[in-house]
Amino acid sequence: MKPLVFVVSAFLFSILSLTLTGSVTISFIIFLFFAFLTLFELLKLRRAEINEIISAVRQIRIDPAIPEEKLKLNPDIKPLEDEIRLMHKRINEDIGYLRKLEKVRTEFLGNVSHELKTPIFAIQGYVETLINGAINDPKVNKYFLEKALHHTNNLNNLVSDLIDISMIESGEMRMSFRYFDANEFFAGIISEYKNFAEEKNLKLEYRGTEKAVQIFADKARLKQAVNNLVMNALKYTEKGEVVISLVDNRKSAQISVSDTGVGIPSADLERIFERFYRVDKDRSREVGGTGLGLAIVKHIVEAHGSKITVRSMQGEGSVFSFSVKK
Ligand code: ADP
Repeated sequence: MKPLVFVVSAFLFSILSLTLTGSVTISFIIFLFFAFLTLFELLKLRRAEINEIISAVRQIRIDPAIPEEKLKLNPDIKPLEDEIRLMHKRINEDIGYLRKLEKVRTEFLGNVSHELKTPIFAIQGYVETLINGAINDPKVNKYFLEKALHHTNNLNNLVSDLIDISMIESGEMRMSFRYFDANEFFAGIISEYKNFAEEKNLKLEYRGTEKAVQIFADKARLKQAVNNLVMNALKYTEKGEVVISLVDNRKSAQISVSDTGVGIPSADLERIFERFYRVDKDRSREVGGTGLGLAIVKHIVEAHGSKITVRSMQGEGSVFSFSVKK
């Protein structure tokens, strides 16, 4: 406001002095005087605006969580204020994201160490007992060795799943999509698990389509996902059957793995795809589970542009489904 007053005054007083005194020099000096005042005010104003900007940026630097309302600038530089507020919002979103990542990473490391400790302690215990004399006791020595072997297998499964999940989550997993025959593919998986199913007296079946269906997927990764689902179904089923089925839709094929096993309580359904989440920890460890199988399945299914769904009734069984492109 002030500079405008000075500019108007410069003109008014110069004209007035010219009229009263008739001297161009006096009127020019008066004009110059007001012109300097205007310039001085303009510089002061610019300095104040710069200080406001510096202060806003400094406030964000010192405390990025500062409330947005405190970031106020002169109304003349409102667009700059809007930009600073947007930048402040973005910084806070990024900080929030990084904190979340850090928390997830710490939790993951904690879980990994805990999961590693369990089989290592068990193996250590059995080996120590054997060394301390049990090795000469024919009643227990084989049993302890078998137990140690069981935990070694668990450790091996865990390390393999950890390598997979870290590869998938770091984006190192390269997908290689191509067309292949679905019926042949699933029949192959069934034959791999036939013995395991027979040992548990379970029926294992593939219900495919009459006509051949070509699906478009990463064969190795899809196999890994279906293997995990079939293995879970066999692990958590004591009687009845495990079925892989394929339904041919127009542009996609729906794949389901169903079982007549223990089922999953509805409260746990949402969480079973999280890393290391288990409904029954002891049971999972007993059957050689790592708690990572479904997290791997979820990643693989999502990399195929689909979503894994699950329906389950406790005591009756579960059905896991997803689709792949044709
Ligand atoms: P795990 O290696 O423990 O099987 P997963 O990630 O494969 O880990 O599965 C997570 C949990 O979901 C399992 O511990 C189990 O409690 C439950 N679960 C998975 N599949 C089934 C199933 N077919 N029937 C019953 N429970 C299941």
